[in-house]
Amino acid sequence: MNRIRIAIQKSGRLSERSLALLQSCGLRFARSKDKLYWYGQDFPVDLLLVRDDDIPRLLMDGVCDLGIVGQNIAREVTLENDNTESLEELRSLEFGRCRLSIAVPEKSGVSSVADLDGSRIASSYPALTQALLAERGVNAEIVKLSGSVEIAPGLGTAEAISDLVSTGTTLRANHLVELEVLFESTAALYGQQTGLSKEKQELLELLLARLDGVLQAAESKYVMLHAPRESVEEITRLLPGAENPSLMNLESDPTRVALHAVCREALFWEHLEALKGAGASAILVLSVEKMLG
Ligand code: ATP
Ligand code: ZN
Repeated sequence: MNRIRIAIQKSGRLSERSLALLQSCGLRFARSKDKLYWYGQDFPVDLLLVRDDDIPRLLMDGVCDLGIVGQNIAREVTLENDNTESLEELRSLEFGRCRLSIAVPEKSGVSSVADLDGSRIASSYPALTQALLAERGVNAEIVKLSGSVEIAPGLGTAEAISDLVSTGTTLRANHLVELEVLFESTAALYGQQTGLSKEKQELLELLLARLDGVLQAAESKYVMLHAPRESVEEITRLLPGAENPSLMNLESDPTRVALHAVCREALFWEHLEALKGAGASAILVLSVEKMLG
């Protein structure tokens, strides 16, 4: 069958953004509330909605061709398999950002991970935690927990935890302090290592090109401004990531031109102020929805 199957998280932190990202690539699905399989309408691309932990395995077993999952989970599952089966990270995405950190009780007196040699560390990411601690020369006993890791020190089942943190609120609420970041993670699009059929490969390339367009557009801005004719070069230099701006004559003022450009890098107030300082006026910044080529 030459349909591509993409696994995404059914319900959780990554679900909404994963679906929105695929939709912004032009994919439409016949949704069914209770079913876990959504059929692709305009493209032969279907969705499988599953628990995030199952996504790496579905790719390794060839059940799905693509999957969106946190790098933390992809790394954990490949390590559990001793790296014998790997996943290919096709694109890292800009959501699901978090860090795997070691935390200890506020009053523990532990000030570095080196002090945790020989202690018990509770984690839902045992393989990843063990590997990253070993890199730091720390040998700890990992207590595997599937959830509520933050209560382990209070219960006396571990001296420290290794858990995902984004804001740190959960740690503070449990009187834990973050000692060290072991791993930074975002969601990513993964593919399987085995070769796809020619048709699927072509479809994948089309999807990746659209995805790149969406990711690039998210950062890009379309800038319009008026500039003194003699400052066009300087103003172009002040626009981050802009190439070949379009110039238009202004009927009302022959000394000034209208300049339009796409900035492919983040544009801050400081940039606009610098532009104004170089003589630009009527500066407008618009967001870009899609981009190709
Ligand atoms: P499932 O029911 O699918 O197994 P889950 O409870 O394991 O869901 P979520 O809590 O929805 O998973 O987290 C999914 C992913 O979101 C994590 O694996 C991680 O990559 C990312 N993430 C971002 N911020 C956080 C955070 N503060 N805590 C946990 N995960 C986070
Ligand atoms: Zn999960």
